[in-house]
Amino acid sequence: MARHTGPVCKLCRREGEKLFLKGSRCMTPKCAIERRPYPPGQHGRDSQFRRGRASDYLLQLREKQKMRRIYGVYERQFSNYFRKAEQRSGLTGSNLLTVLESRLDNVVYRLGFADSRAQARQLVLHGHVMLNGRKTNVPSALVSAGDAVSIRPESTKRTYFKAMRQELDDRQVPRWLHLDVKGLSAKVVQLPEREDIDVTLNEQLVVEYYSR
Ligand code: SF4
Repeated sequence: MARHTGPVCKLCRREGEKLFLKGSRCMTPKCAIERRPYPPGQHGRDSQFRRGRASDYLLQLREKQKMRRIYGVYERQFSNYFRKAEQRSGLTGSNLLTVLESRLDNVVYRLGFADSRAQARQLVLHGHVMLNGRKTNVPSALVSAGDAVSIRPESTKRTYFKAMRQELDDRQVPRWLHLDVKGLSAKVVQLPEREDIDVTLNEQLVVEYYSR
C-alpha cells in the first residue's frame, strides 16, 4: 500500500486515537477526533456501537497500521524495517522503534525544525537539511550515533527558519540528540532506546503480527 496522501485526520479517527499527524493543530479544539470521535465513513458512527470483541489478529493489525501511520512509511518499507530490527540483537519491537526513530525526517521533527513528521519530510525533500555536512534529500536516510544533522546555511536565511530559531530556545529535545540552536544543527549522541521514545504503541503486537 502506498503512502497515504488523503486527509490524515481520517487515520486518527480510524484508529480511535490521536496520532498527532498535523503538528500544533492536534492540540487545538479543531482536532477532528475531538469533534467527531467515531470512525470515518457513512456508517462510522453506527459501527462503533456494533463492534464486538476484537480478535488478536485485528489488534495486531491495527497496532502495526498505527505505528506505520505515525512514522508515515510505506507498507513495504515498514516490513523492511521489521526485518532489519529482527537482525539486531535485543528485543525486535524496541529495535523496530529505534530504526523508525533514526529516520532523518523523524530526527528533523524531534529537533523541532518541523511541526510534524510530514512537514519534516517536506523540508528534507526540498533540500533544506544536511547530514554530516552534505545536502540530503532522502527522508528515509537512517542516522547513526555521532552523525551531524543541520539546516543548510542558505536555508537559514529564510523567514521560516529565522522564526523557528526563536521558538527553539525553549525546546526540550530527547536526550539522544544534542541541539545547537544558534547553528541550527544537532548531533546524534546515541541511538534512542525504548524509554527515550514517547509514542504510545505496543510494539509487541507488531512483532506478533509479523510472526504469524
Ligand atoms: Fe489526528 Fe492531529 Fe487530525 Fe487530531 S488534528 S485527528 S490528532 S491528525
